[in-house]
Parts: sequence; C-alpha cells; structure tokens
Amino acid sequence: MSTTSQIKKIGVFTSGGDAPGMNAAIRAVVRTAISSGVEVTGILQGYVGMIENKMTALQMRDMANIIQRGGTILKTGRSAEFLKPEYRKKAADNLKSHSIDGLICIGGDGSFRGAQALWAEYQIPIIGIAGTIDNDVYGCDDTIGFDTAVNTALSAIDKIRDTADSHDRIFIVEVMGRDSGYIASAVGVAGGAEEILTPENIIPVDKIVEKLKESRARGKTSSILITAEGQKPGRAYDLADSIRKKSGLDAKVCILGHQQRGGSPTANDRILASRLGHAAVLALLAGKKNLMIGSQGKILTEISLAEATTKSKTADKTLIHLARALSV
Ligand code: ADP
Repeated sequence: MSTTSQIKKIGVFTSGGDAPGMNAAIRAVVRTAISSGVEVTGILQGYVGMIENKMTALQMRDMANIIQRGGTILKTGRSAEFLKPEYRKKAADNLKSHSIDGLICIGGDGSFRGAQALWAEYQIPIIGIAGTIDNDVYGCDDTIGFDTAVNTALSAIDKIRDTADSHDRIFIVEVMGRDSGYIASAVGVAGGAEEILTPENIIPVDKIVEKLKESRARGKTSSILITAEGQKPGRAYDLADSIRKKSGLDAKVCILGHQQRGGSPTANDRILASRLGHAAVLALLAGKKNLMIGSQGKILTEISLAEATTKSKTADKTLIHLARALSV
C-alpha cells in the first residue's frame, strides 16, 4: 500500500512514565507506516532525544519480537529543558534535519502538552496515543498499560491474601496512582478489598478503624485495604500507625511500587496498543493533526489534544462502592 499523503517520513517516540504495551504501539505505528510507503524514525528518550538529536531509522524487522515485551525499546524520558522555547526550537530543528514531517507521541497528558507546544510553535502535525499505567487521560476508557498494571498488582494481592488469612492479619497494600485512583479502584474490587482509599476518596482513620472493628465482630479474620500512593508514596505506613494507635489492631504494609510498571503486557493492552497505533498513523497520513486517538467502549475516538489535556477524567466511584458492598 502506498500513500498519496504529504507525509513521507514520521517520527515516533515514547515519553513520560513507561507503560507495558508501549512496544506493541510502536510496532503498530512502524508497520502501518512502512506498509503505507512512509519511512519511520524512532526518537529515543522522548523529548530528551528530540533535543539531543538521538534518532534512529526503524524498519519492519526491528519490530520483531517486541509485542510481548514490557517497557519501551525507544526508552522514555522527562525533559525539563523541553518546557523552554529555546530547547523546543532545537528539537524542531532536529526534526527538520531528519525530514520528519509528522509525529506519533505515545505518553500521558504531560507529553501531549509538549506535543501541543510543538504544533503551536512549529506546526509539526502530531497524533497522540495515551500510554500510562495511571489511566488518567481524558478521552479514552483505558490507557495502554493500565490493564497490565492492574493485573500485576492483583497477582501480588492474591499472594498477600494467603498470608493475611493464615495469620489473621490486616494488610494495607499501596498501589501506584499519584493523582488518580484508577489502579486502586480496579484492584480493590478484583482483589476483594475491604476499603479503597484514593486521592478522590479520602476516608478518616476513625471510620476505617470502626469498620475494621465491625468486620472483626462479624467474624472476619483478615482484611485487605488498598491505598493509592497519592502525592506522598509511603502513606500506607502512616495509615498503619494510626490504625495501631487507635485500635491496637496490627496492620502490615506492602508497597507494590515499580513492579506495576513492568512486565509483559496483557492481551487487552496489546490489542489496545495495536488498534491505537494503527489508527494514529492512518489519521496522520489522512492529514489529521493535534489529536489524540482514544477508545471508548469498542469504538476508536478522536479528540483534540487541547481537550485531552485540559479536561479531567472523572473518577469512577462505583467501583469503590462495589468493593465496600461486597466486603461484608
Ligand atoms: P506523562 O506524559 O506521563 O504525563 P510528564 O508529565 O512527565 O509525563 O510529561 C513528559 C514530558 O512532556 C515532560 O518531561 C516535558 O518534557 C513535556 N511537557 C510536559 N508538560 C509540558 C508543557 N506544558 N509544555 C511543553 N512540554 C511539556
């Protein structure tokens, strides 16, 4: 298949927090583009590589055997320099020197803000695909990596349940999620948690203690509480201390941390990444720009990067209520 598009060469990069499934998205982008007669350059370490001119040509066969790998073969990065116009100029000059006339950005909303700046200042057409384990990007039900992170956390929680049950213990499990509780909510329901604490669902310690005591009185011998890390990782320890002080109940803490970012992507993440990567290239070649391709239900959607970066996804509290209703 060849293209009549103005675009002859595109650049692809992963940026911000890494997420399982990013490689599947890169594969879909590269293979769709080359099949359409368009060359692809991989930009290493996100905006860092754009500024430092770290770029490499990507071929069909470079994509072999990466669909199942976590992380990102292009590496990712955060760049404070890219926030400054003079460095964005450098990045734009580098893109020009490689004859790149369109970009696919795989990242979170921060990365999309950077993409918007490049469009506003240098009119480089960009299509975004949301890749972040946090699932906190407006305009798509799930982001690439979220499903894998939930399943990774869940498999750890299943193991914790065994020991919690054997020792009649309370466990507080801290999962990732700085500003959002998507992982915590999903994992809480799937892992049978007693309570889910997220940045959107802050529960006073007294209420938690009361609930734990009631559970014990009803004959429960072990409990799992899920907490999202919030702005301050390690807050599970503060909660355990408070529970101990206020109730005398011993609560153990397990912080799952960065393991949630790694690992082989689930089938759902690979399929999502493949669909979004394919659609993103077709959109770019059709002359679309400054958009994010997302998925809502089974339908692929397009929204402007401006909308994706200014609107916030509303947290789904029904999962929190469901976990509570079922942990009686
Ligand atoms: P994520 O994409 O996962 O949300 P970050 O928020 O760390 O990750 O953003 C990734 C990178 O995007 C930042 O390190 C920075 O280089 C760039 N970026 C973020 N916000 C802006 C902005 N307002 N203008 C220009 N670049 C930005």
